[in-house]
Amino acid sequence: MDSQRRVITDGGVLIEGSRIVKVGKSSEVKNVSRAESEIDAKGMAILPGLIDTHVHLAQALIRGCADDTSLIDWLQKFVWPLQGNFEAEDGKASAELCMLEMIKSGTTTFLESLLHERYGLDGIAESVLQAGMRGILSKTVMGLPGYGSQGSIMHPGMVEDGETCLRQVEDHFKRWNGRADGRIRIWYGARSLGGCSRELYQRIGQDARRLGTGITMHLNEVQEDARYSRKEFGKLPGEFVDEVELLDSTIVFAHGVWLTEREWQIFAKKGASVAHCPSSNMKLASGIAPVVEMKRAGVNVSLGCDGGPSNNCYDMIREMKTACLLQKARLLDPLVTDAEYVLEMATINGAKALGTHNEIGSIEVGKKADLVLVALRKPHLIPAFNPISQLVYAAEGSDVDTVIIDGKVVMQNRALKTLDEDLVLRNATERGAKLLKRAGIQIQPKWKVM
Ligand SMILES: [Zn+2]
Repeated sequence: MDSQRRVITDGGVLIEGSRIVKVGKSSEVKNVSRAESEIDAKGMAILPGLIDTHVHLAQALIRGCADDTSLIDWLQKFVWPLQGNFEAEDGKASAELCMLEMIKSGTTTFLESLLHERYGLDGIAESVLQAGMRGILSKTVMGLPGYGSQGSIMHPGMVEDGETCLRQVEDHFKRWNGRADGRIRIWYGARSLGGCSRELYQRIGQDARRLGTGITMHLNEVQEDARYSRKEFGKLPGEFVDEVELLDSTIVFAHGVWLTEREWQIFAKKGASVAHCPSSNMKLASGIAPVVEMKRAGVNVSLGCDGGPSNNCYDMIREMKTACLLQKARLLDPLVTDAEYVLEMATINGAKALGTHNEIGSIEVGKKADLVLVALRKPHLIPAFNPISQLVYAAEGSDVDTVIIDGKVVMQNRALKTLDEDLVLRNATERGAKLLKRAGIQIQPKWKVM
């Protein structure tokens, strides 16, 4: 993945500090200097770290807690009561579980979209520091306890006040933005339509411009978004977010399933990105986003795994395959997408969405050394006539062998060097069980568990 889309066989990458200083044939790279340490990547593919542009860190702990149910029930009966009972220690345990899974499946950068205050942003940011990942933490901004036209349905434990939210984002921004050599950033996480007033959306736009930071928001995930927006604001959701000047900042809209041509033309013109979340959209029966049409119109489309109850995993390699196949099936045309485009969605398009394409998203001299080594000597990956095809259509997250972020080896031979895996798994198991008890929610498997 570079500007010319070269695939270099017997390639090598030289890293100095946190940056890539040479890319080429391994013999050329070795000629330049005697490296302090060397990783033998024989039989592996070296990719830019994958970029997940729509993640809920706090939902790893409630993975599988809301299967096979409609979106409103999903939110109202399971997800919100569980998240509304979170303590800061749950937020941290969940974030660490989520990051462990992301690193182990090749994700190096993520955009977290909605951190409510009770999840404990400080604890989560400390965990990002420790895990060694590159992460954008978006603090929720909301003022209304609803979803679309369904007012007051949110669990009281999730409800926050607009003014307080705006102040908190700014506090977190001052404390964390740019920390760890820029690995951590703080954005505005605007709640979806029905969660903020027109004035609050305007304030988010103004404040984001003043701080020079980004915004992320769920948009057009379900048809209800468009109905609500037409009724409330007399406009389509994509027109409304333009009217309240959210598009004047770096902005990532999650889902975009029901966007229309008029809206994606605005997004293309204003440089707004859409994070496509195919597994989540399928599981919640939200619909299929018009990725092909948006791409043709010039919209930057990236990829996201969404969350533990909607996907239910945070594996971008799996998500790439789903994204690619889904568009072919929707348009009854195998030519509308290919493995190469979805690899772009998961790497360079993700970097563009986050406004960091000069720093990450490809393997090029001068960029940050965020690299992933995928082991290809496996039965399901041989023969590798086209390595891009193998990565997208045949590989799994567990084929990732080594992960380097910001020049540091975070995982090697599948062993984490930053987080204590056993501890993370134990914590998550214990905190998850306690959380369910506190929320009074029982997950009843349909089949009898002996
Ligand atoms: Zn989401």
